[in-house]
Amino acid sequence: MDLMKLTIDGQVVEVPAGSTILQAAKKAGIDIPTLCYHPDLDTKAMCRICMVEVIGARSLQTACSQPVAEGMVIKTNTPAVREARKLNLELLLSNHPQDCLNCIRNQKCELQSISEKLGVRSQRFPAAKREKLPIDNSSYSIVRDPSKCILCRRCVAVCQKVQGVAALSAVNRGDETRIAPAGGKNLNDVACTLCGQCIQVCPVGAIYEVDDTQKVWQALANPDLHVVVQTAPAIRVAIGEEMGLAPGSIVTGKLVAALRRLGFAKVFDTDFSADLTILEEGNELLQRIGGNGKLPMITSCSPGWIKYIEHFYPEMLEHLSTCKSPQQMFGALAKTYYANKAGIAPEKIFMVSIMPCTAKKYECQRPEMNSSGQRDVDVVLTTRELGRMLREAGINFDTLEAEKFDEPLGISTGAGAIFGATGGVMEAALRTVYEVVTNQELPKIEFDEVRGIEGVKEATVDLNGTKVKVAVAHGLSNAKKLMEKIKDGSADYQFIEVMCCPGGCIGGGGQPFPTNLETRLARIKAIYEEDKGMPLRKSHQNPAVQELYKDFLEKPLGEKSHHLLHTHYIQRGKYLKKGN
Ligand code: SF4
Ligand code: SF4
Ligand code: SF4
Repeated sequence: MDLMKLTIDGQVVEVPAGSTILQAAKKAGIDIPTLCYHPDLDTKAMCRICMVEVIGARSLQTACSQPVAEGMVIKTNTPAVREARKLNLELLLSNHPQDCLNCIRNQKCELQSISEKLGVRSQRFPAAKREKLPIDNSSYSIVRDPSKCILCRRCVAVCQKVQGVAALSAVNRGDETRIAPAGGKNLNDVACTLCGQCIQVCPVGAIYEVDDTQKVWQALANPDLHVVVQTAPAIRVAIGEEMGLAPGSIVTGKLVAALRRLGFAKVFDTDFSADLTILEEGNELLQRIGGNGKLPMITSCSPGWIKYIEHFYPEMLEHLSTCKSPQQMFGALAKTYYANKAGIAPEKIFMVSIMPCTAKKYECQRPEMNSSGQRDVDVVLTTRELGRMLREAGINFDTLEAEKFDEPLGISTGAGAIFGATGGVMEAALRTVYEVVTNQELPKIEFDEVRGIEGVKEATVDLNGTKVKVAVAHGLSNAKKLMEKIKDGSADYQFIEVMCCPGGCIGGGGQPFPTNLETRLARIKAIYEEDKGMPLRKSHQNPAVQELYKDFLEKPLGEKSHHLLHTHYIQRGKYLKKGN
């Protein structure tokens, strides 16, 4: 690799050729402020905050877009640099609503923190007369507030390049430029997966999740309701960040205790229904391999992925497993099996899910998700919303003593826990399918080939002489590669796992800020540690799931399972109505 030597603020640094000044400065320990650059994306030179002086150049340069050159001498902290950065920032602020106190990103806003860093203490420029633009709250998951948009285009890049969806783009020109779905439509009227990755990269409060916390406060205060909660595998390794702990802190027991403090009658675990999913999905796979159904079979637990395939590859819907997501399986069982066991009328049960995902807010509203006779899941809160509720309730998360989930729907195995990371559903399924088919104990429980952050992973597993080839994709542009392979006949897989969000659910659109490569890796590591620490690590060993089959469902893929735990999919056009 060619290296370039340059001097930044008197320090000599060597970086690979092709690096930008911004990257070289980072290596030298200098943080140049920027609002449009994002390490996962190729956005650059939109905000013009990252100005630096390159000795010999006629004007200041943007550090995020300017490549380094051998012998370059750069100054990042001169009066001219400071003034230019501040000027560009103040111009931006003059066109920005100044309602930080009411803003969902208050204290978690990059524009706020850069203003503080650059010492903006007054408004030199009068506020531009920008009319308040209409808010787009058309979907169940995501709100867009174009008045707060600083046109950095990170959302456009993540939606086009990482998710391969292109639901957002720049429309109009000059002063009239806006970031919006094509044709100025609302998000709900275009082929958007509601994945929330645009929220994750937005530096300000211009895109955010629909806030459902009031619905949960109201339910908790209603003495006629029995309010129960389930928490997804990816929450226990992320809510700590929301409460000020380091990325990758495992806080399962504190999370349970915190939910009890909020007033939930029962604190259950989606890991339980993740184990159940493996029993249903594993058996479905074996049926299909036996000649009954389309192969490759593709996992169906990620609602953003489901919406994507419904919009973009409707001809492939038969490849999807008919299993509902663990969240929806849980809801259906809470209002039937649990209601019956606890002697509570299903209509009195209010089911709340804590999920890493904005698409799950939409999923629970799908018309078919009411197989208990009620809406199976009443409200979905993201990790960030739960964080807001805990702060509002004054719960000191750090000092909470660990508590255990309620039984029986809180009993789970390590296989359920790893659902939260890319490759986890596949690994959990393989642990069970191998043992069911071969009748032998797995020689090694970890399937390293399907772990890690690589976009597409493959493995071959020998099941008593039958070779099963599997693939795993995370992020929809990676899923697209696999779909194209199936279409052109070059995919020889029997089973594919797809997770909508980069890194899997640990990188979901509802997870704490910042969600980037570093935090994703820390959360994934924590997920595997959680699995390692579990006494049982295979879904078919879960005693509560065994009891569920014995007392209620009878057998995987049986009649009750089909009614409560399985679903169907629909072909979607480019334009749709709310609820579709
Ligand atoms: S986006 Fe940031 S700067 Fe703008 S109002 Fe919200 S918190 Fe304040
Ligand atoms: S939610 Fe996902 S698909 Fe929709 S605009 Fe945002 S990034 Fe694109
Ligand atoms: S909505 Fe957010 S991410 Fe998208 S361009 Fe505007 S400020 Fe940037």
